[in-house]
Amino acid sequence: MTATIAKTTCPYCGVGCGVNFTVPDSTSKSGLTEVPPVSGDLDHPANFGRLCVKGSSLSQTLQSDDRLLAPSVNGDVVSWDSALETVSGKIAQVVKDHGPDSFAFYLSGQILTEDYYVANKLAKGFIGTANVDTNSRLCMASAVVGYKRAFGSDTVPCNYEDLELCDLLIMVGSNAAWTHPILYQRIVEAKKQRPNMKVVVVDPRETATCDIADLHLAIKPGSDAAIFSFLLQHSVQAGVLDNGFISRHTNGFKEALNQALESTPTLTSAANFCGISDEDLMQLANWWVETPETVTFYSQGINQSSSGVDKCNAIINCHLATGRIGKEGAGPFSITGQPNAMGGREVGGLANQLAAHMDFATPGALELVQRFWQAPNMATENGLKAVDLFQAMEEGKIKVAWIMSTNPMVSLPDTAQVRRALEKCELVIVSDCKAHTDTTAMADVLFPATGWSEKDGTVTNSERRISRQRGLLPAPGEAQHDWWAICEVAKRLGYQSAFSYRNVHEIFAEHAALSAFENSGKRDFDIGHFSQITKSEYDALTPVQWPVPKGRPEGTKRMFEDGRFFTPDKRAKFVPIVPILPLQEKTSDWPFTLNTGRVRDQWHTMTRTGDAALLTKHTDQPYVEIHPKDARQLGIEDKTLVRITSPYGEVLLKAKISRAVAPGNVFVPIHWTQQFSNASVVSNLIPQVVDPLSGQPESKHAQVSLEAVKNC
Ligand code: SF4
Repeated sequence: MTATIAKTTCPYCGVGCGVNFTVPDSTSKSGLTEVPPVSGDLDHPANFGRLCVKGSSLSQTLQSDDRLLAPSVNGDVVSWDSALETVSGKIAQVVKDHGPDSFAFYLSGQILTEDYYVANKLAKGFIGTANVDTNSRLCMASAVVGYKRAFGSDTVPCNYEDLELCDLLIMVGSNAAWTHPILYQRIVEAKKQRPNMKVVVVDPRETATCDIADLHLAIKPGSDAAIFSFLLQHSVQAGVLDNGFISRHTNGFKEALNQALESTPTLTSAANFCGISDEDLMQLANWWVETPETVTFYSQGINQSSSGVDKCNAIINCHLATGRIGKEGAGPFSITGQPNAMGGREVGGLANQLAAHMDFATPGALELVQRFWQAPNMATENGLKAVDLFQAMEEGKIKVAWIMSTNPMVSLPDTAQVRRALEKCELVIVSDCKAHTDTTAMADVLFPATGWSEKDGTVTNSERRISRQRGLLPAPGEAQHDWWAICEVAKRLGYQSAFSYRNVHEIFAEHAALSAFENSGKRDFDIGHFSQITKSEYDALTPVQWPVPKGRPEGTKRMFEDGRFFTPDKRAKFVPIVPILPLQEKTSDWPFTLNTGRVRDQWHTMTRTGDAALLTKHTDQPYVEIHPKDARQLGIEDKTLVRITSPYGEVLLKAKISRAVAPGNVFVPIHWTQQFSNASVVSNLIPQVVDPLSGQPESKHAQVSLEAVKNC
């Protein structure tokens, strides 16, 4: 095979590793005759040539025999034109009869920034609804609100190098060894180079990440905020406040400190709240006091919580109080789950955002965006966040839903409710590259979408780095890009000129121009440098961290180095935090606390990783992890079939007896769907409890009962 090597980006986690893809010389729409090899891109600053097992197995996912190859309406294969007419006709009708909020997009952190941009523009500027939400709501919405409350903007301060430069790394609610493997590898190597570097893992479970922990705090589920409440007040007693930073660059310290003193007045009170020993908490506190170069690294264990935003701000408070932000090896660092959760955030792809990091409440933003888009029907207020959106669907308020590249029938909490919502919705459109998912089964209209290696555009990783995903293989069958399908519907709704893009380069340039429109580099997210980008420059784009304003093509490695934030007075804000436990309480009927998470080699609902034989070797079936003491009491042995019941549903899983979970707690991975294993969808058990500020579901917490079914 003669071939060229192209650089693209891994489509799985938020690390955003660069991938070298060997493009075969001869490919055809009838399929690949050879499997193109992939390797890590030595030049990409996220991974410097490394790939984890998921990234390394990407080639194995390219020959799926379950591709969706043609549009269909009510089960009948139709032409694109006919399907687009059906969809645009129904949208026009429901908007006329019931108003713009009868339509909704439910998008995905898997789609590209350009897809997000046009979906957001169509909904918020032309149809006139802000009902544009995304499965990223399930992954990082709390981190977004936490940053905005503290910094005035949703801005990640740190970069991956900071993980290698810090002397204390506090990893909270993150099993990075499995969920962000390349970052974990970088941390492992840094720790070898820096023998004094300490790693503390805060997690109710003993995960693979604990292998490098100098200290593991196995806290009571959901109690994380008390740790940081204590660290804040202890920083005062230990004399490590950065008083100059606090007085010059922040507001609200006294109020936050007073609340911390009230909530966790003593070491013992905080330790008791978290269910850990005084000694262990003091060990962390001592390291915190001794170590200015501290990064706090947090992920779903913080975000997927009914108090997720407060937990984020409890962490940020500690960094502001000690001036550990905007410096090498220091800062509060939220790691996103999905490959382009960050890109969606940049273009307004959440129901509570407007566009280009501006909110509906941002003074002047609505008019500015309307002028830029020449939009005839601007939405004027926040739309519905994911859980509320599906509830509104069940209530009959949303009559047309367009779901793109995601599987809410498996991933949203209380899947029975999601099924009722989709059954009630008059027209469910699903754009996907796979023919058979739990959600495509609910669709009235199916749009065949291009997948990784066919899609072209940009993604942004957890360190604000924009990278190109490149379209390298021809689309199979009649699959089309998501941005194209959105624009075709928009044109049929009468908005030809605003959606006449010929390619993704034109969309990206418009997005960049909006980010800098009437702004002159003052906006937090400004990639104005790219507003005049040519097609060849876009095609050759190398990874760069935003902001990238005019005159700063190298981008921005680290934020807030000058101590100026994006609030009106440029000062960061402390937020008083009252630590609380998860809302659903343990009862005699529901005595076990369920935690959820990922296994090493699978991604989301396995629609792609399920195709790679190598990836099923690590964990080939779902399971429930149970402590031996609980197992003994319930007569459960390893591999016993266990019925897990909550007020919302039940699942049947094989037991895995393990001391990784504490007595009274169980753990179930999230990936398996009804298609892989009957009654194994853990979301069946999860209540639709959300953080009141971010709308992010408490997906890591449910109270359940267990019962042995039979020995297998
Ligand atoms: Fe892909 Fe994440 Fe693995 Fe990197 S760490 S190769 S982005 S799955």
